[in-house]
Amino acid sequence: MERYVFQKVQPDDVWLKEKGTYKIATGSGGKKTAILSCPKCGESQSLSEHTIDNNGEVNPSVVCYFKEKCDFHEWVTLANYKELINGKS
Ligand SMILES: [Zn+2]
Repeated sequence: MERYVFQKVQPDDVWLKEKGTYKIATGSGGKKTAILSCPKCGESQSLSEHTIDNNGEVNPSVVCYFKEKCDFHEWVTLANYKELINGKS
């Protein structure tokens, strides 16, 4: 299956304005995670329950939080994830 690639927003960009973008967030225990803007409905959701490897590959596959109104369900890669987590404390 083809992976859906999310593009990073600028580190200082607080809002996910565009569908299909992500930013780094810090989850419980200081664990790095990401917040996505769904490419279909534009709603934001956290990946705190997912694993993100150094190449930005997310496991398991991502199902939109708002699945009653949105059918997004894909394997996801976060573009430039490694640079983002290394470049930001
Ligand atoms: Zn959605």
